[in-house]
Amino acid sequence: QLILLTGASGFVAAHVLNSLLQHGYRVRGTVRSEATANKVRKTHSYLLNGDDSRLTFAIVPDVAKPGAFDEAVKDVDGVIHTASPFVMQVENNERDLLDPAIKGTTEILKAIKKYAPQVKRVVITSSFAAIVDPKQGARPGYTYSEKDWNPVTYEEAKSGDGGTAYCASKTFAEKAAWEFVEKEKPNFDVATICPPMIYGPLDHDASLDHLNTSSADIYRFIDGSQKEAGPTAFPAFADVRDVGEAHVKAYENPQSSRYFITSGNFQYPDVCEIIRKALPAYAGKVPEPSSTEKVPTFAVNNSHARNDLGMHFIPLDQTISDTAKSLARLQEQK
Ligand code: NDP
Repeated sequence: QLILLTGASGFVAAHVLNSLLQHGYRVRGTVRSEATANKVRKTHSYLLNGDDSRLTFAIVPDVAKPGAFDEAVKDVDGVIHTASPFVMQVENNERDLLDPAIKGTTEILKAIKKYAPQVKRVVITSSFAAIVDPKQGARPGYTYSEKDWNPVTYEEAKSGDGGTAYCASKTFAEKAAWEFVEKEKPNFDVATICPPMIYGPLDHDASLDHLNTSSADIYRFIDGSQKEAGPTAFPAFADVRDVGEAHVKAYENPQSSRYFITSGNFQYPDVCEIIRKALPAYAGKVPEPSSTEKVPTFAVNNSHARNDLGMHFIPLDQTISDTAKSLARLQEQK
């Protein structure tokens, strides 16, 4: 089977691509330029067993443009849509976050309906950002699950800070996908993957100067820039390897559903403690775990993904020590 993977150059997409190739799929990745296609080919060629035709590319410079995916979807059997900006500092919330997230999603669904009627399942990378109600803060005593939706309004998204706009971009993009299926009744159904902070090894062409947002969230504890553990804005995480695998399992599962993909809760003092053990040479730069007190927070329920997708989640120790080692390797290569 040939799967279209959008945003193939990203941190998360690198692991979706790992899982797809390991499961025997052929993949057509969308990227914004030929140069990016070459980078993805280079990082993943070891998984092709000498058959380069298993990984091809389509150039889609602007996902929000009408007709953006019309060519890319032709002849594919399934689609995994990860491309979406994950940035918190933008000039214009609508142009830089909301439009690419929401229109990127509706454009690909329209293109599949029109040009790829053979597609039966589309898996979309949504986020815990579409589940959490940020106004409730740490919310001790509450357990988040797939039934929750971020209640943000479009007006708040347009005028709010970057974090609010990012969370809203994921919320409205995911809602648009479910609404598209309900109204348009296409040949396909959708499954959505909703992970919180995703950490783990960097298998894409990563650079310390342009780290993806969630890897940068860990790197600041290694490079000496962060003096205290600090409060944990989103105290739940997933391992990027689990997130990659979850996309493929959701593609293969007969049921279409929304999946909260998370190993569980965490707080930054835990992260500092694990990095100090994993990277003794860097320990002097890592904040003291006791520099910030841990606080009671919401809980997370991952039972739907465990029961329906057969997920087994990687624990925090392994996720953070593998993230730290991966970042230290990048630093040593610099
Ligand atoms: P990256 O920044 O590493 O990847 C983002 C990908 O989307 C890149 O391939 C990027 O292309 C592409 N992209 C971004 N904006 C556009 C645009 N306007 N037009 C075309 N392509 C675009 O981030 P992640 O891998 O972390 O994010 C991937 C997905 O996972 C996103 O949907 C994100 O919301 C979601 N997610 C991430 C979490 C995390 O903690 N990392 C948590 C929950 C969800 P290019 O390389 O050309 O910039």
